Amino acid sequence: MSDISYEVIVGLEIHVQLCTKTKMFCSCELSFGEEANARVCPVCLGMPGSLPVMNGQAVEYAMLAAMALNCEVAPFTKWDRKSYYYPDLPKNYQISQYDLPIGSHGYIEILPEDGQTRRIRILRAHLEEDAGKNLHTAGNFSQVDLNRAGTPLLEIVTEPDMNSPSQVRALAVELQRIMRYLGVSEGDMQKGHMRFEPNINLAITRPDGQFRTPIVEVKNLNSFRALERSVAYEVQRQLDQFLETGVTLQMGNKSTRGWNDQDEVTVLQREKEEAHDYRYFPDPDLVPVTTTPQRLDEIRSRLCELPLRRQVRYVAQYGLSDYDAGVLTAERATADFFEQTLAAGGEPKRVCNLLTQVGLKLAKDRGGDLAALGLDPAAVAHLAKMVDDGTVSATAANTILESMVATGKAPAALAEELNLIQTSDAGELEGIVDQVLAENVQAVQDVVTESKKSKKARGFLLGQVIQKTKGQANPKVVSEILERKLK
Ligand SMILES: [Zn+2]
Repeated sequence: MSDISYEVIVGLEIHVQLCTKTKMFCSCELSFGEEANARVCPVCLGMPGSLPVMNGQAVEYAMLAAMALNCEVAPFTKWDRKSYYYPDLPKNYQISQYDLPIGSHGYIEILPEDGQTRRIRILRAHLEEDAGKNLHTAGNFSQVDLNRAGTPLLEIVTEPDMNSPSQVRALAVELQRIMRYLGVSEGDMQKGHMRFEPNINLAITRPDGQFRTPIVEVKNLNSFRALERSVAYEVQRQLDQFLETGVTLQMGNKSTRGWNDQDEVTVLQREKEEAHDYRYFPDPDLVPVTTTPQRLDEIRSRLCELPLRRQVRYVAQYGLSDYDAGVLTAERATADFFEQTLAAGGEPKRVCNLLTQVGLKLAKDRGGDLAALGLDPAAVAHLAKMVDDGTVSATAANTILESMVATGKAPAALAEELNLIQTSDAGELEGIVDQVLAENVQAVQDVVTESKKSKKARGFLLGQVIQKTKGQANPKVVSEILERKLK
């Protein structure tokens, strides 16, 4: 066992549902949770004689996403029919893109837990329509719901550049963040907006040579957790299987497996990849898509600073921790609000604390994003300044922010109203300090004799003063007075 080493090799296919108003080739509305077959028409039902009409918005979204993934965007592309003989797509073919995908040869940057940014190459990104759903829930028969049939999907295929379960997860998370930043997909896992299919195998090195285990594709994962766990499970399973059987990668021994979320195991679905004969051919009902350089420039102008870049910049420019920068850039609305507050004069770390400790929590409780709280960035910046200049304590600021959301009032007014203004008046505080020193002779003794208890005693005295002022004494000012008196 000790003279064997291995490398994990994973490529990922991701289906991203684009958030257009209508379906890819008809005007049926895209909506979730409708009664079965309430969102269908002759086109998405595949009725004879019906003709598809391309959704221009979906094509633009796909182009924008491809640009964000650093892909070459095809100036000319077309639609192909992929033979598909299943009841969840009654016209017996899926409209997809075969040899001319909208995007190709790009890359995505990820930041795995080891803290090193990595580039994962993107092989292609193409548009296609989704199939419906076969339901096997009632009795001894199947039902078909075609509400989802015709939903625009962007299929993104990476090169096998990932080498660990955590890298695979990082890519999936990053992709979700990018799609949401661009506004091309809601990326809601619970609603199946993103589905993942990792292709996994191992390159094993032993004294007697190098070996590759057969590739396994895990189908239809719809959570980051399932994705990461299934890859980890496969790594171990493939290693065990190789040691036991010695079976290596051959033509035709790729298999597909499903993920059992309950037991956290992959389950064999198809032993041998059947020779796929999709019999692609250009769809005769749809015209090719041509784009001018001007049009592409116009779409490119809608690109924004991508989340990972923003995150790295927050660390470098504002001195935030990786963790805080990640939290602030998780959603574009949050990052935008943060930057608006800085533009209004807020100090980055102070604003970050206010937003991450209170703002995001309140937003989450209300089921919306930070921007939906109705806060004015200038007011938040003002509150941050009030902490910086000692008008209120950091703890009080959190209370005030909460109140700002609830009442819409200005921070200064709330600080008065809630009695949270810190006392920095040295004269007033001196009297209180004297009183506390008189009442705590033992602690004073500990400080003055510089005993082991000195530090603890100082903290105790400070706490007593703060308590006497009901939390309104400015700790910095009190510390200075204490320092002077205890010399
Ligand atoms: Zn339709």
